[in-house]
Amino acid sequence: MATGVRRVEHRPTRASNVTPHTLLDPGADVVLGSSVDDMGVEATSEELCVLTVHAHPDDEASKGAPTLAAYHETGVRTVLVCCTGGEEGDLQNPRLREPGQPFHGLTPEQERDVMARVRPGELAESARIIGFDEVVMLGYRDSGMLDSPANDDPTSFHRADLDEAVGRLVTVIRRTRPQVLITYNDDQRGYPHPDHVKVHEISVLAFERAGDPTWYPWAGPVFQPSKLYYTVWSKARMLLVHETMLARTGSSPFDEKWLARPSHDERITTRLHVGKYLWARTGALRAHATQVDPTEPWWFGLSDDELAEVYPYEDWILARSTVGGPADDDVETDLFAGIADVLELPVESPGRLVDPSQAAAS
Ligand SMILES: [Zn+2]
Repeated sequence: MATGVRRVEHRPTRASNVTPHTLLDPGADVVLGSSVDDMGVEATSEELCVLTVHAHPDDEASKGAPTLAAYHETGVRTVLVCCTGGEEGDLQNPRLREPGQPFHGLTPEQERDVMARVRPGELAESARIIGFDEVVMLGYRDSGMLDSPANDDPTSFHRADLDEAVGRLVTVIRRTRPQVLITYNDDQRGYPHPDHVKVHEISVLAFERAGDPTWYPWAGPVFQPSKLYYTVWSKARMLLVHETMLARTGSSPFDEKWLARPSHDERITTRLHVGKYLWARTGALRAHATQVDPTEPWWFGLSDDELAEVYPYEDWILARSTVGGPADDDVETDLFAGIADVLELPVESPGRLVDPSQAAAS
């Protein structure tokens, strides 16, 4: 951590051109889950809130949708921060170029225009399905894949001043006051998209600075989130889906490149049994009609019921905590563990995927 003096020197002024704006606020009545009182856990005066930071519209569908749906249903306020508009996304659903479909006969430039117009609507629908109470657009441009020309666009997220971008996120955190903050893993070797790397960078700094009054004094009353989590797709899940699809259909969408991706399973601290919320992932992915081919086995090779049978968990890495965490041989089954008892998910403890001491020894 830098000294106070240095921080003051680096403190940016308020962004004058763009401020975060809310895309969608259905204004749903949100109440605390009754389990908080029932369990005898001290209810805080703060409303419970979880905030998840994503890079592009559709990331919220593929990473953590069932978990967020479960919290929404329990009455926890759910906030999505989307850092870019996904302007560089290609059309991933060739069916939309067929006669009568919105991309029929368009030039690449026209496709890009139509895409920019429809993606906010896709995001709003995805967020409605998952149950986000609020969606905040951080206001940056999609930087495109690594080494693409869009990386050089001065309005891209990738090029954004780090302190200024963190300030935008801190503004949202101080207003929405989430006890739990979710972001991407520190290791993006598997998918090194510049925007995903930047999501991680600004989230870690925002977690540190939101409660620090010397940072962004214009950004509202300070608030310190209690826990910071990283999303992770466990290798165990991928292998089980891979084997199940081979057995049932004779083929699997996971090729050698996927199977060779580095595993983070030994770092997983938190495993939520969300088998009855997998509809949130499927429905939200389908809402992103330009980005997700509805016949793609990579996304939809197993039905929700089949997946719930094979692997009903979403896995998380607890990266920072002001309220402690699980022992090395234990897992949390609730992101709010140590704050409040919120989820009434199946109680059997799934246990660690990999014993960290074994992983260190091997
Ligand atoms: Zn993305």
